[in-house]
Amino acid sequence: VDQVALAVERTRLVADLGETRFLSETERLRQALLSSVSHDLRTPLVSIIGAASTLIESDAALGPEGRRQMAEAIREEGERLNRFVQNLLDMTRLGYGALRLNLDWVDLREVMGRATRQLGPVLRDHPVDIAVPASLGPIHIDAILMEQVMANLLDNAAKYAPAGTPITVAARRDGREVVIETSDAGPGIPPEDRERVFDMFYRVRAGDGQRAGTGLGLAICRGIVEAHGGRIKVGDAAGGGARIEIRLPSAGEPPTPPAPEETP
Ligand code: ADP
Repeated sequence: VDQVALAVERTRLVADLGETRFLSETERLRQALLSSVSHDLRTPLVSIIGAASTLIESDAALGPEGRRQMAEAIREEGERLNRFVQNLLDMTRLGYGALRLNLDWVDLREVMGRATRQLGPVLRDHPVDIAVPASLGPIHIDAILMEQVMANLLDNAAKYAPAGTPITVAARRDGREVVIETSDAGPGIPPEDRERVFDMFYRVRAGDGQRAGTGLGLAICRGIVEAHGGRIKVGDAAGGGARIEIRLPSAGEPPTPPAPEETP
């Protein structure tokens, strides 16, 4: 009996320990989320309020070109907020395992077109080369979620690579798989960080504070790609930049024709 009581007690202790670990991990995530949300909401809001105030108070002095620049700044920061909120929503849905795919046969070039339009002025300092051959044909994905994956990857490339350097997106079939790669000419991601950059809130250059970011983008990309049954990983681009490779194992499979009916 003592043995049994001991075993029960031990199990309870282990469970308590697990619970405490779980809680402190949740608490850590909650803190990280709060500070990231307040920082990432406030930064674009400050720009929007600043640009709007300039428009109102210095309207005469600005001239048409100045007014256009202010309006563009407001739109760009508004779109940044929009992407951030979208990422937060996705993260919540991923966390609850409620990310449902709406699969369809789509043209990846159209998805890329929407992703680049969504980013708008964010890409203004980088030539973007989208090398998706027509021969790729339609692929089987959730177009809206994959647009977001591609927008997050392009956003990162534009954010971390120096102005003027090109960003490339290439897609091909590899057997049944569809492979999509983005490459940039930035600092790249060091090998020791290549797994962790897909963790929520993980940032390689967290300390420098130069580039606004939440550390959510790649975690969401991974969630969406894995929901498609695919994989995402970091490699080196020629020249040392970051190369992000997505493999979608069944996105290129043609729909199976209905089995012929057997005649009795
Ligand atoms: P965020 O960009 O908001 O910090 P992400 O999850 O998108 O968050 O990226 C996580 C980290 O990975 C970034 O903070 C950055 O350190 C690194 N990273 C992502 N993309 C690139 C890239 N194209 N070039 C260099 N570093 C990158």
